[in-house]
Amino acid sequence: MFDEKEKTFLSDGFVNGECTFCGAQDQYGDGCEKCGKVYSPLDLKKPYSILSKQAPVIKESTHLFFKLTKAKEFLEEFLEKPALSKDVINYLKNWLEKLEEWYISREPPYDGFKFPGEDKYFYVWWDAPLGYFAALKHYCEQNNLSFTSFVKNEKSEIVQFIGKDIVYHHYLFWPAMLHVGGYNLPNAIPVRGHLTLNGEKFSKSRGIIITPAQVVSKYDKDFLRFYLTAVTPNSPVDVDFSWQEFKNKVNGELIDNYGNLLFRVTSMIKTKCDSKVPEPANYEDEDKAFSELFTPFLEKIKGHYEKADLKQALETTMDFCRKSNKYVNDTKPWDLQKNHVERYKTVLYLSFKAVAIATIALTPIIPDSCDRLIKTLGLKLKWDESLIKPGLIVNPQIPFKKIEEEF
Ligand SMILES: [Zn+2]
Repeated sequence: MFDEKEKTFLSDGFVNGECTFCGAQDQYGDGCEKCGKVYSPLDLKKPYSILSKQAPVIKESTHLFFKLTKAKEFLEEFLEKPALSKDVINYLKNWLEKLEEWYISREPPYDGFKFPGEDKYFYVWWDAPLGYFAALKHYCEQNNLSFTSFVKNEKSEIVQFIGKDIVYHHYLFWPAMLHVGGYNLPNAIPVRGHLTLNGEKFSKSRGIIITPAQVVSKYDKDFLRFYLTAVTPNSPVDVDFSWQEFKNKVNGELIDNYGNLLFRVTSMIKTKCDSKVPEPANYEDEDKAFSELFTPFLEKIKGHYEKADLKQALETTMDFCRKSNKYVNDTKPWDLQKNHVERYKTVLYLSFKAVAIATIALTPIIPDSCDRLIKTLGLKLKWDESLIKPGLIVNPQIPFKKIEEEF
């Protein structure tokens, strides 16, 4: 498309119009943010140039294409993978029927990489996924790891988290590129919804925005990780950011539930057992019932992480912490110490084990905190229950500082 007034070709970002599929207004030329369909600027209804606000004219120009139709059979097979989102696949099936070649060059002016030897640019969704590999390669080089052992290796797994507006690019285009290049395909591509603010879309120009940098300049970055995990389901549903909910989740769940368990258990071991995790004695019914929660909890957690369901993993861990706090409240170790020394040791040992397991389970969600807090338990961050044993030396620290601010 060409803007006659400005005398320039218009790339997708410079043509707006009405989505031909759902009728949404003011959509860009390469796809609709409302319904998620991908198309060419030629498909827009009532197109206009955002430079001159005039309707563009169609001019002939040469472009480069990726032969996506050649990958049709491969893509049909790829979309059968059980770990891919079923809803997304049903939605893509129609599109696969009418698969067309993918045009990957854009006219200047365009923000991006130039095609070698041509006055054209790569379409942003051609080079953006390559950036994932570039970042990984850079990381591997800096850490003495083998890049190919991640991307060309049957034993490695790739899980790719994406937003719901880039489904086509990551379920069709990118796998086709990987297939042609002989690289590992993603094993799972969990799709998430958008984050809104007071129910509205984030928008820089309209001032509806909070950046991660703004949040972490004021609060522990694990608070943000914890909050976003707590409110983001494993599905393409939009999530509303709320400062009040941020505070409630952090203070009420992370600190009052998990943090409280950690601090009270390590403090009791410090003051009553010379900081040394005691040897347990015989279990009473209550202790036995509590200790029998551990293995099923760990199995459940592993399952949630395997499925990339972080919200479920977090909720399961918080539930486990609540049960552990209840066990401490019910057994009242502070009363046991005088006349029931053996039972006292059992209760402290089991409570210690519970909080150690919970810390390891939370590591993927709040890695920096767990890295710091596991040391207060005399442990290392390792998924190995056998390391949690009597004789470890605890060093209690107040785990987190509560959010005091009123919102
Ligand atoms: Zn649409």
